[in-house]
Amino acid sequence: MRSTSLIFGAIAVLAACFGASLKSRSGDPANANYLQKQDAETPIDQKKLVVLEAVRAPQDLGERAMAHARTLVNLGPRHSGAVPTEGYSKQLDFITAELKRSGVNAVRDTWTDRRELVTFTNISAVIPGKRSERIVFSCHHDTKCAKGHKDTEHNFAFAGANDGASGVALLLALAPVLVQGKHDATIELLFFDGEESMDWDWNNAARALFGSKHFVEQHRDAELKSGAPKIAAMLLLDMVGRKDLHIQEELYSTARLRTLVFSAAHSCGHATHFFRGAEAASDDHRPFLDVGIPSIDLIDLKDNPHWHKPTDTIDNLSAVSLQIVADVVLTALPAIEREYLLDPR
Ligand SMILES: [Zn+2]
Repeated sequence: MRSTSLIFGAIAVLAACFGASLKSRSGDPANANYLQKQDAETPIDQKKLVVLEAVRAPQDLGERAMAHARTLVNLGPRHSGAVPTEGYSKQLDFITAELKRSGVNAVRDTWTDRRELVTFTNISAVIPGKRSERIVFSCHHDTKCAKGHKDTEHNFAFAGANDGASGVALLLALAPVLVQGKHDATIELLFFDGEESMDWDWNNAARALFGSKHFVEQHRDAELKSGAPKIAAMLLLDMVGRKDLHIQEELYSTARLRTLVFSAAHSCGHATHFFRGAEAASDDHRPFLDVGIPSIDLIDLKDNPHWHKPTDTIDNLSAVSLQIVADVVLTALPAIEREYLLDPR
């Protein structure tokens, strides 16, 4: 089995931890389990765009998101595990309280993973629309555990300002805007736990994406048993606040959603921050894709020098970047509704 271990070794070097760019493709051991159902696709034709009306987020949204991110980072490490960090449970309380302030009821789903014996909590908040079908806006709230690793380089004070806090902060800042928006779709905000890999390196998908996998399983059960509302589409915000913002074209994401998001970026005058580079990245959208839900990951991972580094700090985030992503998401939303709701007006 020498060749197998050589391949594994190469993957361990190339691939990263959870949320990482998984450059290997079908046939590689790293893809052997959960992630084999869908291969990465090719980039969209950036000349074939849809004309969309730009929707501007409220002027203070970026600043509000930035304030949330600052609060979260000040809580320290925010991950579960055998002994969850102090910041972990404080963050859950903060998310719940902020949603409540926006007039949205937060529901926690807590479970213990039987193999890892780790307890996780997802948070869901539903903003009713004219229709019961849902469009999911999501992020992960856990931060990478950067202590207790064999390699000393992987033990440091990790703030998780962009990788973790930025997505949570932006969803929290978007919540009141979505409440006031009176959209056709019911919007579900999802804050996933356990996105990050339990090991430092990407170790197959078996030890990562705990929250999104759990959610999709529960959702499918509910759909089958009680006819729970369908999820029409899913958007994931992960690492969306870097000063030098570059949201890559993530190639597992549904091509039509990529076209709509890039069209939205273009309509808002933000295209320079989107899709300059294209690369697949395994993330919380994959369990949704695996059950046929159109999904897109807005992620700034490719060539990001701060990813899983001590420099992923609040100083490297920017309110302007968070505002840009908010504009694009709000501009894309009506187009996504038109495209994916089963009975569009
Ligand atoms: Zn990460």
